[in-house]
Amino acid sequence: MFFHVLLTGECNLQCRYCFGEALEDFDEPDSEPNSELSIDYSLPKRINYDVSILGEFCRRDPECVLTFYGGEPLVCIDETKQIMDHVRAKQFMIQTNGLLLDRLESRYVNRFHTILVSMDGDEAITDYYRGKGTFRKVVDTLKLIRNNGFEGELIARMTVMEQTDIYKQVTWLLDNEEFPFSSVHWQLNAGFWKTDFDRRDFKKWSNENYNPGIRRLVKLWVDRMEKDGTVLRLYPLLGIAHSVLHGEKESLLRCGGGWANYAIQTDGHIIACPTMWGMKDHYFGHISNADPLSLKRIFVGKPCTECDILGICGGRCLYTNITKRWSSEAYRLVCGTVRNLVDEITKEIPSITKLIEDGKVNLQDFEFMKYNGCEIIP
Ligand code: SF4
Ligand code: SF4
Repeated sequence: MFFHVLLTGECNLQCRYCFGEALEDFDEPDSEPNSELSIDYSLPKRINYDVSILGEFCRRDPECVLTFYGGEPLVCIDETKQIMDHVRAKQFMIQTNGLLLDRLESRYVNRFHTILVSMDGDEAITDYYRGKGTFRKVVDTLKLIRNNGFEGELIARMTVMEQTDIYKQVTWLLDNEEFPFSSVHWQLNAGFWKTDFDRRDFKKWSNENYNPGIRRLVKLWVDRMEKDGTVLRLYPLLGIAHSVLHGEKESLLRCGGGWANYAIQTDGHIIACPTMWGMKDHYFGHISNADPLSLKRIFVGKPCTECDILGICGGRCLYTNITKRWSSEAYRLVCGTVRNLVDEITKEIPSITKLIEDGKVNLQDFEFMKYNGCEIIP
């Protein structure tokens, strides 16, 4: 089982799509018509349970994989080390903004199976979303950890919204000379806030930039397979193609939220995913007495359950499905992006199958660790 360990709600950055949106999104919880949104706002800012409790919890699952998460998890560098010293997990991973990775000794960094680092593309777009100087500092830190021996998977994790030219930024991350990434994942900032849709122009952008950009990316992906036998690790493409190539018909929520990949709050309560912190009606127990192997499961409801592509999409996001922060009409645009992505990949499956038969690429090239923090459906 996979668990995000929420070390803290604190962060050393103030990104536009997170801190910035929170400032503008006036969403009074008491006025929510949906009672499922009663939130516990009194959670401790940093973990306040004894690490030995987490150790006991993890010990009951031989496949326990822990992913450090925040806020920015490395704000709690001592707690990170304490957990890595005292909890026996099958693997450790981290989702970080990368700024503090140089403060964690190599003997810890080099134990991470995967590091997902927030990087939105080139310097201009990363600094636009995340603050001036962020890009430079993160790239320097990533070079340092590679030089210091980190050999695990390093995934550029982009947050994407209207200022992003998806084709330009993904290809930049793959091909730039200074620090090319071999793995890229992106997630749309869509449906997570209540009042932002009207302030933004998601419709125009998704129609004119994002969806055409995805079509170009899928073409590029297959072109690279043909030209040099490389299956680029573009997670949204990889995840869907993997399912189709293996004949999977019914994918559950691909991030694993609520059934394969849970999160542990700073107070030790277990939730379906990090974004669902404090949602009291959706707690799955507490690590002090829950069995990691028999946790309750929760799945997406309408409209996903009535959708003709649920089997391949998996439902995109449990949090947005429950909270329904965007109207049905607005969310249909998000689903349009899913449909476009799935259609474009499906169209290329015959060519990809031929490339596999001809030995240009291998089926194993499409393998990846599921629930590693890449949600697959952006
Ligand atoms: S495309 Fe939209 S409605 Fe359909 S399963 Fe995915 S998220 Fe749900
Ligand atoms: S996709 Fe949604 S449910 Fe899954 S981890 Fe992200 S926010 Fe949570």
